Amino acid sequence: MEIIRSDVAIIGAGGAGLRAAIALAETDPLLKISLISKVYPMRSHTCAAEGGAAGVIKPDDSLEHHFNDTVGGGDWLCDQDAVDYLVREAPKELLQLEHWGCPWSREPDGSVAVRPFGGMQKQRTWFAADKSGFHILHTLFQTSLKFPSIERYDEYYATDLIVDDGRCQGFTAIEMRSGQMRRFEARAVIIAGGGAGRMFPFTTNGAIKTGDGMALAYRAGVALKDMEFVQYHPTGLPNTGTLLTEACRGEGGILLNRNSRRFLQDYGMGPETPVGKPQLKTMELGPRDRVSQAFWHEQKKGNMLPTKYGDCMLLDLRHLGEKKIDERLPLVRDMSISYLGVDPVKDPVPVRPVVHYMMGGIDTDIDAATSLPGLYAAGECACVSINGANRLGSNSLTELLVFGRRAALSAIEFINSGKPSVNEVALSAQAAAAQGRIRGLFEKADGGESLAGLRREMMRTMEENAGIYREEEGLKAACAILSQLRRRYLDVGLTDRTNVYNTDLLQALELGSMLDCAEAVTVSALARTESRGAHQRLDFVERDDGKFLRHSLAYFRSHEPPRVDYRDVVITKSQPGVRDYSGDHK
Ligand SMILES: Cc1cc2nc3c(=O)[nH]c(=O)nc-3n(C[C@H](O)[C@H](O)[C@H](O)COP(=O)(O)OP(=O)(O)OC[C@H]3O[C@@H](n4cnc5c(N)ncnc54)[C@H](O)[C@@H]3O)c2cc1C
Repeated sequence: MEIIRSDVAIIGAGGAGLRAAIALAETDPLLKISLISKVYPMRSHTCAAEGGAAGVIKPDDSLEHHFNDTVGGGDWLCDQDAVDYLVREAPKELLQLEHWGCPWSREPDGSVAVRPFGGMQKQRTWFAADKSGFHILHTLFQTSLKFPSIERYDEYYATDLIVDDGRCQGFTAIEMRSGQMRRFEARAVIIAGGGAGRMFPFTTNGAIKTGDGMALAYRAGVALKDMEFVQYHPTGLPNTGTLLTEACRGEGGILLNRNSRRFLQDYGMGPETPVGKPQLKTMELGPRDRVSQAFWHEQKKGNMLPTKYGDCMLLDLRHLGEKKIDERLPLVRDMSISYLGVDPVKDPVPVRPVVHYMMGGIDTDIDAATSLPGLYAAGECACVSINGANRLGSNSLTELLVFGRRAALSAIEFINSGKPSVNEVALSAQAAAAQGRIRGLFEKADGGESLAGLRREMMRTMEENAGIYREEEGLKAACAILSQLRRRYLDVGLTDRTNVYNTDLLQALELGSMLDCAEAVTVSALARTESRGAHQRLDFVERDDGKFLRHSLAYFRSHEPPRVDYRDVVITKSQPGVRDYSGDHK
C-alpha cells in the first residue's frame, strides 16, 4: 500500500480544514501538509452557508454582548472559556478574510455592513449578500493555493484512524478515482469533516454530511459530546429542505400562521413589532430552538397551513420590496422560485422546520485537542463547546475560522514537543486491517440487506423519535431499532464491485458513520431527562441544572450501545439564568 508522509494531515477541506491548512503553512513554511477531502474543496458544505458570520465590529456592540448572547442562547451548556476565546478572536478572523479578499457587503459609507441574526442582541453578522459561505470558502480556497506546502488530495475518502503508541499517527483513505487504499502517515491529524444532518430525512445539509469525521474519532475511542442537541432551522423549503436563511428575518421578514397571525408573540417572543422593523432578539429574531418549538405547538393547534408537502408557516418578505430582496437576498428569491415556484417579492413562501446543524461532535478542549494525543478537531464535526444546547445563527462560520486556526497551532505545538519513534510494522498492520474490512464488503455474498433500505429506516427512526420534541418511549424504541440496524449493517453487501468511483462503496461507508452517530444521538437523548435548548422532552419539561449542567460524553462500543458519561460545564462569569426573549433588548 502506498504511504503518504506529512507532518500534519487534515481530513476535510471545508472552511475549518482550509483555515487550519493556511494557519499551518503560514506559521511554519517548512511543514509538509496533506489536505484530504472526499469532494473537491469548493463542494464542501461551507459553500452553502448563506446568512453570514458573527463578530463584534460596530461601536455599540461589545465582546461582552456577544459572549452573553452566545451563552444564554446555548442555554448555559457552552463552555464559557471557549466562548470567551471565540468572541475575542472573531473580529480578527473576519478582518483577516477581508484582507484575503472576501467581498463583505458594505454600508453606504464603505464600512463593513452587519445584519441582525436570531438571538443576537446587537447587529454583528458580517455577510456577503446571502452567499456568505460561498465567498468565505472561495477566499480560503484561493488563499490556500498560495502555499506550496499544502498538498491536496481531492476525492480521497478517509476510512480509519491509525493509533499506535497511545497517539494518532495517521489514517487510511481510499483514492476514489482508482479505488486504491493509501496510508497517510502524519505526526498530527486534524479532523474537519463537517456535520451529520443526513441521518435525518429532511435536512438542509448537503449529501456529503454523513458524520464521517465524528465516526472516525468515536471509533478510535474519543467521546462524542452533547450529541443529543440537534438544531432545527425554522425556515426550510417544505419540499426539498433547502434553507431560506435566517437573514430573511434579519432583514425584516415575518412569520405568519394560517390565520395571518405573527404567532411568535404567543410563545414568549412578543410583543408584536411593527412590520419591517424587527426588534433584536425577539419575535422573528428569537433563537432557532424556540421558533421551531413554537411551530410544533401551532401545528398541534391546527394553526399551520396544510400543503402537499406537510404543514407550513408562511415567511413573508413582500414588504421589503424587490430592490432590497434582490440586493440582500438574491439567492433566497432564486431558490424559492426555482424549487417551489413562489416569488417572495409577490407572495409569502411556505416554510417548515428542517434539521440543520449538530451542536454535538468530537469532544475537544479549548485548544481543539481531543483526548487522543496527536488528534485535533475543528468545525461542525467538533464540540469545543461554544454552541451549548442551541447554536446561534452565524456563530458556526466564525467557529470554524477561530478553531480551525487554533487546531493548527495546537498541532504545531504537539509536533514540536518531540519526535517519538514510529513503529512502521504496527502502522502497516493497522492499514492492512482497514483494507481487509473494505475488501470484505466486496467479497461478501449478498446478505439480503439493502443499503437504501437500512438508510431509509434509520432516517425514519430519527425523524419520528429524535425530532423537535422527544419522550422516553420513542427514544427507547429508536435506540433499540438503531442497535438492530447496526447489526444488520454487517450484512450489507455491495452491488457494484468495480474500483473506479464506486459510489456504492462510499455510500456503504457513509451509512456506517451515520448509524454510529445516530445511535450516539438517541442514547444521549434518552439519558438526558431534562429539557434544554434544542433537546426538549415532553416527559421532562424543565431544565435541570442540578443534574444536567453537564456535557454528555458518548463512548463507542462495537457490539453494544455507547456508554454515556458526563463532564461539568465550564462556567467563568455567567451563572445559569432565564432565557428571556420577551422584550426589546436593543
Ligand atoms: C444551507 C446551510 C446554510 C448555513 N448557513 C450558515 C450561516 O449563514 N452562518 C453560519 O455561521 N453557519 C451556517 N451554516 C452552518 C455552517 O455552514 C457549517 O456548520 C460549516 O460550514 C461547517 O464547516 P466545516 O468546515 O466544519 O465542514 P464542511 O464545510 O461541511 O466540510 C467538511 C469537509 O470534510 C470532508 N470530509 C468529510 N468526510 C470525509 C471523509 N470520510 N474523508 C475525506 N474527507 C471527508 C468533506 O469533503 C469536506 O471537505 C449553514 C449550514 C447549511 C447547511
